[in-house]
Amino acid sequence: GGTGTASTIRQVKLEKESELRIEVANDTPLRLRLLNGTAEIFGTELPPQIWLTFPPHFKFAVFTWYGATIEMDGTTETDYTADETPMVSYVNVHAVLDGRRNQAKASPESSQGPRVIVVGPTDSGKSTLSRMLLSWAAKQGWKPTFVDLDIGQGSITAPGCIAATPIELPIDPVEGISLEMPLVYFYGHTTPSQNVDLYKALVKELAQILERQFTGNAESRASGMVINTMGWIEGVGYELILHAIDTFNANVVLVLGQEKLFSMLRDVLKSKPNVDVLKLQKSGGVVSRSSKFRQKSRSYRIREYFYGIANDLSPHSNIANFSDLFVYRIGGGPQAPRSALPIGAEPFSYAQEPDQIVSSNVAGFIYVTDIDLQRRKITYLSPTAGELPSKYLVMGTLTWLET
Ligand code: ATP
Repeated sequence: GGTGTASTIRQVKLEKESELRIEVANDTPLRLRLLNGTAEIFGTELPPQIWLTFPPHFKFAVFTWYGATIEMDGTTETDYTADETPMVSYVNVHAVLDGRRNQAKASPESSQGPRVIVVGPTDSGKSTLSRMLLSWAAKQGWKPTFVDLDIGQGSITAPGCIAATPIELPIDPVEGISLEMPLVYFYGHTTPSQNVDLYKALVKELAQILERQFTGNAESRASGMVINTMGWIEGVGYELILHAIDTFNANVVLVLGQEKLFSMLRDVLKSKPNVDVLKLQKSGGVVSRSSKFRQKSRSYRIREYFYGIANDLSPHSNIANFSDLFVYRIGGGPQAPRSALPIGAEPFSYAQEPDQIVSSNVAGFIYVTDIDLQRRKITYLSPTAGELPSKYLVMGTLTWLET
């Protein structure tokens, strides 16, 4: 183990139930492949022999249940093997959930499968556990719905949003979640305290839409949900966890890495006999991220939205007249003068009328690159050419400086 600096091809042999933990170097990607045996990255099996390329800064683990040999080409910030992991307890949870999905499917009117919510402090591995549970379920043919309530480090779409999407295949270790038609609500800030009521209203809206979709779809109803949450667990953060459990009718609460939160939730949920609260160990492999790193990865995700992970998308620059657009800011948060935010990422809404804006999911995002006050025109970057699907723009406090 230790830090690798030499750029050479090397092999790592993994014993059963151990993992290779890797932080890719800051400036160069890493290539990796499975030479023999079987291994997975956060629940998704690696194809044999095929080289995969991981971008700089990427942090991940290659885990094997039965033993494997891995080959790496490139430099890493760190790489080491660990034989103490909580993976057996995680997969046991998966097995219980799977049983419940089968029960739901077998029941005459095809009842509700498990609704799992993953909670815990920042950097406890919530997103990673959610991902594993989803990928293991998808591998078995289920179509669980992934709900991401993390507006700071969410993994479905751009930051500042809450979103949901069905997971039909194990999640790609590099590309992440493949998006057909995610259901996205724009909150516009990276912390819920800026407008708690709006955050709650959007969570409720998302839950209601999903509930409606489940009514007409026995398969996704039986597959259930996996809900990822924010790492904010004190005060209002705790209140928002309870709000989410309640709003989504979660019946399995997985608490990662915090005894106090576990005991608080267990006590308060005692009155609901159909809700199971489980404590799970945090993995020693979870990497803590500084607020600077978090800010950077938010920027990176916005960039990824327009340009793609491998720079394979080409956004279009367009010009619109002020008179063709309506820009809204949803009240409640601290106000900044418009002139203080000349540049930023703004979503456009599916809303048909202004009073539908809060309850409408967003169609996509544009990046305002220039405002010409004299000619009353804005220049913006859009993922697609042509007209915007709506004339309503919603503004948040997220900004992005393209570099
Ligand atoms: P937050 O609340 O801030 O969103 P989180 O609790 O969701 O954090 P994760 O995003 O799951 O935490 O994990 C933090 C980082 O650690 C991620 O980059 C993830 O890829 C990495 N990581 C998680 N588990 C492991 C592991 N076993 N080995 C190596 N890296 C890991």
